[in-house]
Amino acid sequence: MASHVIIGNGPAGVVAAETLRRVDPHSEITLIGDEAEPPYSRMAIPYLLMGRIGEEGTYLRKDAGHFEGLRIRLRQGRVTALDTGARRLRLADGSGLAYDRLLIATGAHPVRPPIPGIDSPKVLTCWTLADARAIAATVNPGARVLQMGAGFIGCIIMESLAARGPRLTVVEMGDRMVPRMMDEVAGAMIRRWCEDKGVGVRTGRQVVAIAPAGEALRVTLDDGEAIEVDVLISATGVKPNIAFLAGSGVAVDAGILVDEAMQTNIAGVHAAGDVAEAVELGTGRRVVNAIQPDAVEQARIAALNMAGQAATLRGTFVFNVLDTLGLISVSFGQWQGVPGGETASLVDQADYRYLRLVFDGDRLVGANSIGHTEHIGVLRGLIQGRVRLGPWKDRLLANPLQLSEAYLARGLAALH
Ligand SMILES: Cc1cc2nc3c(=O)[nH]c(=O)nc-3n(C[C@H](O)[C@H](O)[C@H](O)COP(=O)(O)OP(=O)(O)OC[C@H]3O[C@@H](n4cnc5c(N)ncnc54)[C@H](O)[C@@H]3O)c2cc1C
Repeated sequence: MASHVIIGNGPAGVVAAETLRRVDPHSEITLIGDEAEPPYSRMAIPYLLMGRIGEEGTYLRKDAGHFEGLRIRLRQGRVTALDTGARRLRLADGSGLAYDRLLIATGAHPVRPPIPGIDSPKVLTCWTLADARAIAATVNPGARVLQMGAGFIGCIIMESLAARGPRLTVVEMGDRMVPRMMDEVAGAMIRRWCEDKGVGVRTGRQVVAIAPAGEALRVTLDDGEAIEVDVLISATGVKPNIAFLAGSGVAVDAGILVDEAMQTNIAGVHAAGDVAEAVELGTGRRVVNAIQPDAVEQARIAALNMAGQAATLRGTFVFNVLDTLGLISVSFGQWQGVPGGETASLVDQADYRYLRLVFDGDRLVGANSIGHTEHIGVLRGLIQGRVRLGPWKDRLLANPLQLSEAYLARGLAALH
């Protein structure tokens, strides 16, 4: 009887365990997590902070006996070392655990930038349920809050903080908001929207010092501006949890390098989710695409392979839809542009609408948009499907709004 061990009980770990049980009914499955909570979803934390759900609403599975019923053994503990030769793990309590097949689904942790004062107890992250409890206790109506970082997750966090009624300032070191997902026009539009909603925004600025000021914190920016706040929320990005792999022989770059079967360089050791660096659709590059739908799909593919069923990842795909205080923006594929490629754009500053299409030859390979929610489905279909547009490319260059017509004419034909 095969023994499957999964390290990490977030969405990737849970979906892998359930997939394994479905296709490998007689195996032993152990799911290890190091947080003192039932398996939960981080992406539900904003809804918790906005008061739309309670803590149970973040749990990935709501039935009390769900995992027992599937004979999935839940174990709490931190894995500290991996011996791939002996196929054994070591845990922080000194115990060991043997496996036949292993999935590493340890996710990521928030980066702590090396700023004097960053270790103050009034500096919080928004990553775990424990973090959410600390935020709920401090970010209340009228509280002075500074958020450091306005990337994709940062903007999601900002929305949930803003809903709690604080006086909020956001500082982003990039020259615009969401700089790794949005171009200059879109980033500036999102900034203007946030300012209209009463959020103070500083872009192109860095926090250089955090110091106590009585009960408060004095936060100094690189241009000398000092802002007094009650709490600072640090949202400056995340890094894969790979430190425990030192000496294991598992190959890593930014994350754990995996092939299309989500297997690492070591037979029988797989990785999935925020910790994995998988092959990107279209470009063949390896990327850590730290979003939940990707984590779950990677986990499903990994689990099928662990159970001996051949399955390959179609390629991870950058597909981000962001709601920033009610303004919907999207970033797809190679939105930054490609060498020799062409672009078409349409801007309506007054109505907060923007659409920019990126072509490589006669294929649409990326897009940024704000407000055009009606086009999200077809944009995804055309980009992810790598649809050859033929004569529709020139029509889209002339009028980017003909996306639905282009999809109906070419997207469905591509399915045959
Ligand atoms: C506030 C917030 C909002 C988000 N919003 C969105 C969104 O709208 N859309 C979206 O797609 N994504 C969103 N995300 C990202 C999403 O939550 C992640 O992509 C997803 O959680 C990745 O799942 P995972 O299973 O790979 O990792 P995780 O969910 O991080 O789970 C990994 C688990 O492994 C545990 N672990 C780590 N190391 C060890 C170890 N050595 N031993 C044992 N256990 C270990 C961790 O503690 C954790 O419980 C959001 C994240 C946050 C924080």
